[in-house]
Amino acid sequence: MFFMAGVVCVKQIYFKGFLLPHLISRRLIMKISCKQFELELKHPFSISKFTRTSTPLMLLKIQHDDVIGYGEASMVPYMGESYESANAFLQLVDWDKIQSPFNFQEIIAYLDGLAPGQPAIKAAIDIALNDINGKILNKPCFEIYGAEPSKMPVTSYTIGIDTPEVIREKLKDAEAFKVIKVKLGRDNDKEIIETIRSMTNVPLYVDANQGWADKIKAIDLIYWLHNQGVVLIEQPMDKNNLDGNAWLTERSPIPLLADEAVQRLADMDKLKGAYHGINVKLMKSCGMYEGHQMILKARSFGMKVLIGCMSETSCATLAAAALAPLCNWADLDGPWLTKNNPFANPQFENGKYILKDLPGLGLEGVTEGLFPYTIS
Ligand code: MG
Repeated sequence: MFFMAGVVCVKQIYFKGFLLPHLISRRLIMKISCKQFELELKHPFSISKFTRTSTPLMLLKIQHDDVIGYGEASMVPYMGESYESANAFLQLVDWDKIQSPFNFQEIIAYLDGLAPGQPAIKAAIDIALNDINGKILNKPCFEIYGAEPSKMPVTSYTIGIDTPEVIREKLKDAEAFKVIKVKLGRDNDKEIIETIRSMTNVPLYVDANQGWADKIKAIDLIYWLHNQGVVLIEQPMDKNNLDGNAWLTERSPIPLLADEAVQRLADMDKLKGAYHGINVKLMKSCGMYEGHQMILKARSFGMKVLIGCMSETSCATLAAAALAPLCNWADLDGPWLTKNNPFANPQFENGKYILKDLPGLGLEGVTEGLFPYTIS
């Protein structure tokens, strides 16, 4: 119990649709629970530099007075976060400093002040607080961010680098999707595309994951991919090779997007003109607030936006889906690539997420036993 005299918090409470503003002269009770969760992939997943079969998650439950919010950190190994770093970060947070889950700019600045980096666990906190914010306001997160469900883009289904036999298997899992995203960047790029084209004519997104080193070969391949029905390409060359990527952008007939080259809002200024667009991921942007800021900034630069994901459950996927109608494209296939999503799958029809009119994230299927211990 954390009561402190003299602290005044403004809390808006809705009752049957009517706003009841309250001044509450006590500290709100914050309870934090987390759960280490190994999210298992349906198929071993390879991109140009790594292969893995599962992804460590830190699932987070924050109780803010009588309102509960859920968050998630997906800590893909090459990004440098782990159960240990996430636990250590959560211990650093003085939750009494996050009494008001409305001022996200201040909250992210506070979290950044505790430790540099660690965007995934910061995202988990931001997502849980956005869930709480929506529940207190009795509004869905998508409505708070001004996203219209009718503008939801189709979501792509990602196929990692693999043998033609395995790719054929994976394509059978992708029948509900209207777009396939293909990981390229090794020496069999054309073989992979030809295998997919022998089975389906759906539009393709390509992610080279920095795998192309020679810009002349890369532009030839980009034209070939364009003729194969590829509509966008993520991170063609090394993230630090700004000139090489900009050279390709000048010449490419299809949009080239920065992914590894852009993590957060502060990275964006240097990318203007070097890419046609960016890939926003909540696990890079420290969650929904800064992800939304990045979408707005990209628009102000005349850049396009793909909203993507890591290996994620329904929790982080719903957070990204709430922003997806503000983006040009979506790649939010996390729950469909995994075997043990602990929550109900989001509603999905005709290749798109259906945003439900539920307060906060709209996360469903939470079992109480999932969050067995309390940090504070
Ligand atoms: Mg990518």
